[in-house]
Amino acid sequence: MIKAVFIDIDDTLLDFSKCAEYSMHKSFDDFGLKFNKVMFPVFEKINTGLWHRLEKGEITKNEIYGKRWVTVLAEFNISHIDGNKFEEHFQGHIRESAEKVDGAESLLKYLSAKYKIYAVSNGPHEQQIYRLQKSDLLQYFTDVFTSELLGVQKPDKAFFDACFNRTGKIKSSETVIIGDSLNADVLGGINCRIKTVWFNKNNGTVNEIRPDFTVNSLYEIKCIL
Ligand SMILES: [Mg+2]
Repeated sequence: MIKAVFIDIDDTLLDFSKCAEYSMHKSFDDFGLKFNKVMFPVFEKINTGLWHRLEKGEITKNEIYGKRWVTVLAEFNISHIDGNKFEEHFQGHIRESAEKVDGAESLLKYLSAKYKIYAVSNGPHEQQIYRLQKSDLLQYFTDVFTSELLGVQKPDKAFFDACFNRTGKIKSSETVIIGDSLNADVLGGINCRIKTVWFNKNNGTVNEIRPDFTVNSLYEIKCIL
């Protein structure tokens, strides 16, 4: 019997792409740079690549923050702006951006009436709590677990062991994880024998990591749980 749901935050409940594009635009304004919509995919590609490397344990989060805007600005031949300074502005705007994914609030309302809900995120702790609060979603959670808080990250089994230490009596066999990342959320669930729901929001193809369930919209999850 399922008692608890672990759910990822970025690109599952909050639309990180929208938040990031808004934050990139605002940061360009801060530095007097002209922003063009076609620039965003360049950031997205570099950022996604770095997060995949983090999930594989190849780099740290601080290395992502130290690297991504230096790389993106170099890609645009913008050499007079310090990438680390830009990162600070970007993070400031990300903190203030909390655009919800379609169906996020109704899903949490539905799930929280039946199960205990825990957020599981590799994002910065205080920032994630602030953004959940800002989007009115924090009220549905029993607790928020981040890699910053626990000192380990998804998909590492130690991340989930640390979560279960804090949830008390709930077992992995009584838990489901919902997330958009095969590498972090689904693999993490498989590592811990937690049932997995992959939110395949971008119509990706399944690789060697096999989720128990796949949905293309958050609304479909109500038919599973
Ligand atoms: Mg995610």
